[in-house]
Amino acid sequence: MNKLQQLSITALKGIGAETNASLNSLGILSVGDLIEYFPYRYEDYRLRDLAEVKHEETVTVEGIVHGPPNVMFYGKKKSRLTFRMLVGRYAVNVTAFNRGFLKNKLQLNETVTVTGKWDKNRQTISLKELKVGPFKAQQEIEPVYSVKGNLTVKALRRFVRQALSEYGEEVAELLPKSLLDKYRLLEREEALKVIHLPKTHEELKYARRRFVYEEFLLFQLKMQVLRKREREGTKGMSQHIQAKDIVEFTKQLPFPLTGAQKRVVNEIFADMKSPYRMNRLLQGDVGSGKTVVAAIALFGTVKAGHQGALMVPTEILAEQHVSSLKDLLGRVGITVELLTSSVKGKRRRELLEKVESGEVDVLVGTHALIQGEVMFKKLGLVITDEQHRFGVNQRRTLREKGEFPDVLFMTATPIPRTLAITAFGEMDVSVIDEMPAGRKAIETYWVKHDMLERILQFVQKELVKGRQAYVICPLIEESEKLDVQNAIDVHATLQQYFGDKWNVGLMHGKLHPDEKDEVMREFSENKTQILVSTTVVEVGVNVPNATMMVIYDAERFGLSQLHQLRGRVGRGSEQSYCVLLADPKSEVGKERMKIMTETNDGFVLSEKDLELRGPGDFFGKKQSGLPDFKVADMVHDYRALETARDDATRIVNSEQLWKDKEFTPLLMHLEETGALTTEKLD
Ligand code: ADP
Ligand code: MG
Repeated sequence: MNKLQQLSITALKGIGAETNASLNSLGILSVGDLIEYFPYRYEDYRLRDLAEVKHEETVTVEGIVHGPPNVMFYGKKKSRLTFRMLVGRYAVNVTAFNRGFLKNKLQLNETVTVTGKWDKNRQTISLKELKVGPFKAQQEIEPVYSVKGNLTVKALRRFVRQALSEYGEEVAELLPKSLLDKYRLLEREEALKVIHLPKTHEELKYARRRFVYEEFLLFQLKMQVLRKREREGTKGMSQHIQAKDIVEFTKQLPFPLTGAQKRVVNEIFADMKSPYRMNRLLQGDVGSGKTVVAAIALFGTVKAGHQGALMVPTEILAEQHVSSLKDLLGRVGITVELLTSSVKGKRRRELLEKVESGEVDVLVGTHALIQGEVMFKKLGLVITDEQHRFGVNQRRTLREKGEFPDVLFMTATPIPRTLAITAFGEMDVSVIDEMPAGRKAIETYWVKHDMLERILQFVQKELVKGRQAYVICPLIEESEKLDVQNAIDVHATLQQYFGDKWNVGLMHGKLHPDEKDEVMREFSENKTQILVSTTVVEVGVNVPNATMMVIYDAERFGLSQLHQLRGRVGRGSEQSYCVLLADPKSEVGKERMKIMTETNDGFVLSEKDLELRGPGDFFGKKQSGLPDFKVADMVHDYRALETARDDATRIVNSEQLWKDKEFTPLLMHLEETGALTTEKLD
């Protein structure tokens, strides 16, 4: 493979400066790049029985010209050619625009092959391609590549074919024979030929399978190498944590732990006690009780003579965590302090000194926590909340800070299994998959916007009972482009509706942090009863007296996001409700609203979300940290993904396999692509 990577594309005939530039702009510099430039789809010219062809599908049929061709002229230069054709037992019409010149090619009762879009209702094919004579089998399936500049798909096909026929034999195998045999995968050279020049769809599927596995395996090997190196290569700390201390601590909590909480606590302590460095992801649905688990882990590290840090994405969350942790840890004499950007001047200096002297046991804050300014006496455990907002690189930066404390990442957005394997493949994963007993399920309703009046009455009923309500809108201000409700408008409307009896707060991302805190405080102290907000309340906010969640334009949110928003209610002992105001146009949109009313299980929703929106959208665009696979599809090929992950783990952890000759090409590839370089980490 590397040989062809070094062979310039200009070695091929017919590639001049301009074509070279166009190819380069597609990332194709070498013959190797060209051969690995995969089609993004295929044109299908197989002959098919019209009875099986769907409306508006493109189809190729062979038949005889059954009626004389007729050309109609209209407009200035426009014309329409039509003729009748017999395809087996079907008589169909063929139409073509502005191609009157074809008329002379068509002879009655002669065989022609026609490709075009099938209008099932009108029994008409609108012509794309016409060939006089019978269908020829060798051109059944044609690859379609994405191209730029002057480059045409046809030219690219030609170059690829040329490259394959001249250099195909030099394509080196990457995968060991034992794996090729085990999964009956095509060899690389063969598979590449099929990808570019498939004869049948079966063959194509078979070739695709090979590349799906190859892509996943390479990716997983990188992740597993990283994981192993971070586990064993970096010095961790063995924290001395005694089971009896933990048991004693949990005994005095206000509730017994759920089975799932106990299990993950054990997983976390096993890591913390081991000389390896913990690198663990803790997943749990909204309300599954992650904070208590975090508190127990922090208790453990303090008991072992260390300090703990908890990092969260917003100041509101930081404050909230400080108050829950003070409640849980303060009673056993552990000091918990808050560091945010609003802690300034003398107070900040004093706090930082206390952190450095070890007087503060647990420090909670935003990202500022891991910046240079903050020095810990002995940091034993770092916990970050809402981890999915960081990609793999940020996670590494975090782990590179300080003296190798154990690191626990928490996320409240359940991550579908396949994404967890991919985006967090280098980490160990713990899952809290059980809710505390006695929770009342939130009742969710989906209604159209024209039911607003009824919904406001419903809200009123809850307010009369002394409860509070959130009202969520997608945007802050009115936008001309998007016809969606905005927080400022909705706030004004609700003020009018509820204003004499209740206070309506307004919260959005453009408020100054101090203002945000103030608005949030007023709501949590029940000084405002209704909080109109954008999605800034999405994560973590905890006001147990709020029992009503109304979401405007709910179809504009992802399922996981809706679930997070809904998770703001149902946090107390009262029955809670969530109302989705939505008029979705598409079937998918309707399906999404429906599923929200059917389940409260975040894992079910996240799988569904992934299925409906695709992996790119799942984490939000910029922060996905997901790799771009050329062939593989994380959702549909998840079984191959799991297989590849298991194989990668086995390979990376077996010294014997690693040394085996048949693994050399894989190793070399990893080295070339930088997956094995160690400079950054030591
Ligand atoms: P999460 O952070 O996972 O969304 P929290 O840690 O905020 O959830 O917990 C949600 C609520 O459930 C809190 O009020 C917490 O005190 C309570 N809780 C946590 N664990 C249990 C448990 N085992 N039994 C009963 N209540 C629990
Ligand atoms: Mg450890």
